[in-house]
Amino acid sequence: MDTGDRTVNTTLDDDRGPSRDGSTGTGPILLADLTSPAFAAVAERLDLVLIPVGAHEQHGPALPVSTDTLTAQVLCGLTATFLRPRVAVAPAIPWGVSWHHLGLPGTISLREETLIAIVEDTIRSLHGYGIERLLIVNTHGGNNAALQLAVERCHRDHGVPIVASVYAYSLIANAAQELLGPEAIGHGGGDESSVILAIRPDLVGRTALGTREVNEPVRRVQSIVRAAGGVLPIVQHRTTDSGVNGDSSQATAEAGTAILGRAASQLRAIAEELMDIDIDPFRR
Ligand SMILES: [Zn+2]
Repeated sequence: MDTGDRTVNTTLDDDRGPSRDGSTGTGPILLADLTSPAFAAVAERLDLVLIPVGAHEQHGPALPVSTDTLTAQVLCGLTATFLRPRVAVAPAIPWGVSWHHLGLPGTISLREETLIAIVEDTIRSLHGYGIERLLIVNTHGGNNAALQLAVERCHRDHGVPIVASVYAYSLIANAAQELLGPEAIGHGGGDESSVILAIRPDLVGRTALGTREVNEPVRRVQSIVRAAGGVLPIVQHRTTDSGVNGDSSQATAEAGTAILGRAASQLRAIAEELMDIDIDPFRR
């Protein structure tokens, strides 16, 4: 796909070079593809590791349950491609905190404590090999509270100098709002649908795009509380019968490509700041 300033591979299945450790080739460095010695060599010169965190949850009748994980993976792949060979991508964490979606079939949800433990153990393992800076790229809002605790514990209790978590869905939504309008924003909406049309069109049930029945009174109160920085937990099937609360009728692959390009550019800027900041003041 063309993100505006260079052509990159969004499938994360790059075969344009014989090596995936950054010494040759052009795609993202994927830690999962490296041998142990290759990882050791890469770890010595890496400045940042990205950790995609998604969810396995219902996204209505048109999108796969892996929507958030696929989105997090492609955003990390694009960002690491831009910043090769300084940045690598860890394996995606494909589950999240999705209890509010369990009322609609297909969802697998972790307890908050489980997600915190997975993230802590992942980061502690990588830190043990000398990885000093990590960025979690999270695409599912239900993960945010757990991820905040996880990164705080990694820094405070485990001495990881730079470990951050960003809510990358907000980058997707902001870009989509400019391209598709405010009605497209929301779970399973035009924002997420455009992204999946761009990267995995084979997984989209096109005839079901545009399906949504939103409980407007509930949505309005949630918006009021969120605008004040708060949360109002309500199960998803009480806010929308179909599980979708954004309008996906105008979703296109072209919009998805543009959305991903903008979001990845913002992630690149954040990654560059994290790589360049002096970490000494953060040491104990
Ligand atoms: Zn989603």
